[in-house]
Parts: sequence; structure tokens; C-alpha cells
Amino acid sequence: MRMILLGPPGAGKGTQAANLSIALKIPHISTGDIFRANIKEGTPLGVLAKTYIDAGKLVPDDVTIGIVEKRLENKDCVNGFLMDGFPRTIPQAEKFDAMLEKMGRSVDLVINIEVPDDLIVKRMSGRRMCSCGRTYHVDNNPPQKEGICDACGNKLYIREDDREETVKERLKTYHQQTSPLIDYYKKKGILVNVDGTKSIDDTSREILELIKNHA
Ligand code: AMP
Repeated sequence: MRMILLGPPGAGKGTQAANLSIALKIPHISTGDIFRANIKEGTPLGVLAKTYIDAGKLVPDDVTIGIVEKRLENKDCVNGFLMDGFPRTIPQAEKFDAMLEKMGRSVDLVINIEVPDDLIVKRMSGRRMCSCGRTYHVDNNPPQKEGICDACGNKLYIREDDREETVKERLKTYHQQTSPLIDYYKKKGILVNVDGTKSIDDTSREILELIKNHA
């Protein structure tokens, strides 16, 4: 199964993708996670990506596409993948289609997680991250011990780009550059909408049901 999770920042794509990846036994590929890992390691890619990410802007298409192209060469992608945060622009989607076509493949399903802007701003201000990759939310998905990761015991932190001003910029970027992808995939007949305002578990169940029906 080759799937894309679409939706505004803070819609819960990362959380859903992590759960789905386990349930479907396909890798979760997040371009945002790849950028953050590079920022942490201080690679040239990380240094470049940070300037865009901290400003709530998108990393240039050619850079992002190159990363995905390389990641798809990994053996773990043979039975499918779950893209989270890619594509984010029409040129990325077109290039992605061309990339897959060369491999004799195509995208099977695009899940569009719908959440209104006001709820996103509220959600993102409560988001907490751990360096091990886990994400939490102070109201919806709190850790057992405040500020501490359940899995590894590290201290949780707020992502620089989850601050309110940056979130507003990210939403602007989403509406201008990413939301046209809804129509792009709708026209291909592979897009399904999911209500992302519900609880994480309810949304997971809805997505798994949709995948079952699709298959
Ligand atoms: P995310 O964790 O998916 O919200 O991504 C965090 C940030 O990384 C985004 O706000 C962008 O600056 C950058 N980013 C992630 N994926 C892409 C992409 N497909 N194209 C361009 N920039 C991206």
C-alpha cells in the first residue's frame, strides 16, 4: 500500500502515521522528521532546512524531492510506504508521480485529515516533543509524568516552529501551497477525507476502516 497523509500542520498526521505504520507494517516517511534529524546532526542539509522551517516556510522543492527520491530506494519501501508531510506542493506531487511511475508504481490512497485553523492553533500550542521521536499533547495525549517522555524518560520540549506566530505562518503556507493538492488527488479519484477533530483513537479507527474498504 502506497499512501499519503495530507492535512494542515497540526492535523495529527505524524501521530496517525506512527500508528498506521505499525498496523500496516509499512515505513512511515516524514520529510519533517528527516529535516529535524539533519538539523540535530548539524549537516549542511539541516543548516539549510532550519532557515525555512523556523520561518514557517517550505524547504525548496528540489531539495525535498531529492531526499524523498533517496529514501524510496531503501529496501523497506518495497511493500509500500506512508508519506507524512510529502508532497506539500503541486510540483512535488507531479515529481512524486513521475518517480513512482518509473518504478512501475503509483499512489494508492491519499487520506486528507481535515481540521479547522482555530483548532490547529490551539492544538499546536499544547504539543510537546521528545528527542526519541514521540509526540505528546498537554490535553489530548499527555505523558504519564508531566514534561517527561513515557518511552525514554527524556525531558519533553516545544518545537521552535510550534510557536504561535510560526504556526500562523505555517497555516498561510499550507493554504497557499499545499491545499491545492486536495483537488489534485481528488481528480485522480484516490482522495478520502477524514474528520481530524475527533480523538486520536477515533480518527485512527476511521482511517483503518477506510483503508479496509479501499482494499
Ligand atoms: P512537519 O513536521 O511535516 O510539519 O514539517 C516541518 C517543516 O519541515 C515544515 O513546516 C517545512 O518547513 C519543512 N517540510 C517538511 N516537509 C516538507 C515538504 N514536503 N516540502 C517542503 N518543506 C517541508
